[in-house]
Amino acid sequence: MGKKYILDTSAIISGKDLPSDIETIIPESVLNEILDYEKYQILIGRSIVLKPSENFIKMAKKAASETGDIYKLSNVDIDVIALTLEYGGIAITDDYAIQNVLSYLSADFVGLNEKGIKERYTWIYRCKGCRRYFKEYHKSCPYCGSELKLVRKKI
Ligand SMILES: [Zn+2]
Repeated sequence: MGKKYILDTSAIISGKDLPSDIETIIPESVLNEILDYEKYQILIGRSIVLKPSENFIKMAKKAASETGDIYKLSNVDIDVIALTLEYGGIAITDDYAIQNVLSYLSADFVGLNEKGIKERYTWIYRCKGCRRYFKEYHKSCPYCGSELKLVRKKI
C-alpha cells in the first residue's frame, strides 16, 4: 500500500484529477468547508474522513508557532498538518504557510500546480548572506548570522 495523501480545501475544490490508486484522507473540518458537496462527491466518497488526534494538533500548533506561521493558519489548516504528521502522509496543498510548517517538520507535501503528484519537491533553507544550504530551520545562519529563506529543490 502506498502513502496516504491528505487533502486541504483547495485541493478538493481545484477539481484536480488525482490518480485513482492513491489513498486520500480529508480532515473532517475541511469537509465542513465544502459547500458544493455534490460536485466533489466522487473524491469525497473515495476518501477517508478523519479528525486528527489532540497530540498531533498540539505538535502542529507548536511547529507553526516556531516558524511564525501560526497567525496565518486556520484550525482547518492545522488539522491538515496534524493529519499529515499522524499518518506519515503527504499533504496536497498550495497554502504556503502549511507547506512551510510541514517542511519545518520534515513532513511531505505537494502543491496543486506541480505537474501531477509524481513530481516531488523538497524545501531547504538557504542563507541570504553566505548562500549556504541547510536542511534544518535556524533562526539565523549559524555561520554568518544572516537571514535564511526557504527555497524549493526538486528531488
Ligand atoms: Zn550565512
